Amino acid sequence: MDSLFQTHIELSSFYDPNGNKITRKTEIRYDPLTGESSRVVYDPGINITPPQYSNNAKQTSATNCPFCLPNLTSKTPTFSKTITPDGQINHGDATVFPNLYPYSKYNGIAIFSKDHIIELENFTVELLRDAFLACQTFIKKVRKLEVNRIYPSINWNYLPYSGGSQLHPHLQVIISESATNYQSLFIRKSRSFTSNHGVDYLDFLYEKERQLGKRWIGEHGQIAWLTTFSPKGHNDFIAIFRGKNSITDITTEDWTNVAVGLQAIFKALIEQGLRAFNLAVHILEETSIHVRLIPRLNFGELNTSDFNYFQVMHDEGLTYKSPEMVAELARKYF
Ligand SMILES: [Zn+2]
Repeated sequence: MDSLFQTHIELSSFYDPNGNKITRKTEIRYDPLTGESSRVVYDPGINITPPQYSNNAKQTSATNCPFCLPNLTSKTPTFSKTITPDGQINHGDATVFPNLYPYSKYNGIAIFSKDHIIELENFTVELLRDAFLACQTFIKKVRKLEVNRIYPSINWNYLPYSGGSQLHPHLQVIISESATNYQSLFIRKSRSFTSNHGVDYLDFLYEKERQLGKRWIGEHGQIAWLTTFSPKGHNDFIAIFRGKNSITDITTEDWTNVAVGLQAIFKALIEQGLRAFNLAVHILEETSIHVRLIPRLNFGELNTSDFNYFQVMHDEGLTYKSPEMVAELARKYF
């Protein structure tokens, strides 16, 4: 099934002001599951400035922050008693409560640190593990209540470049009756893949990428990390939960392994001058579970957004760095 990794090369030729011919390559890659295309483009050497929020952190912390103590205990909403008798869900330093402005039938916010801001290098395994465990407990409670199919995901906008509107570290749990576009495409294509090839897509991807090695980063326990062949961003990491396809399959050890892997990915981001990212843990029942992490950046003197008409209007990922280069960079931290 090597043919599932399809590329198309386009060469663009033109002349510099002195009449010298220049040829540059655009590599178009097709996702092995969905067929969606993305482009590995010529790297103009963009100047990434890591964002600094120390001044903003001072202005937005303590009584100005809804997630700092004492506001966290006195001003946050509570779930109905049918979800949890305590109104909120706690695990270690993590607390899950309802989003005042929900995006789905169930939408939890998980605050997982007393600190108003945590730099990327300072997220501990315990903080990350407990945050995911608290989210998992919330999803399990909703799973017991709902007879119909639900689409749970645990999401993270880290820092404002990623769409995060609060500096205080928090996750968002979305549990919807309707799959998002990404989820519905992934489920539909996974089912076709299994019926066409007789193997689960992520099982295939795990075996194939481990054997090829080019996009393989490493694994801890049942959690394996690699870069995607057809990236949706300048880096695009995926973690496969091997042999898991429901919220009750995930163990504490799995979350510890996710957290250890995340620490390595964070180091790979820092090495590139990246800080902000979007992350989603997709729990696709009866299909598979995986994490996707894509860093977000602004660049140049104008603080230009990394998303332009390609991503927004054409739904086409762009990257200046090949997935193989990013995997090699991240591999040394595993
Ligand atoms: Zn805060």
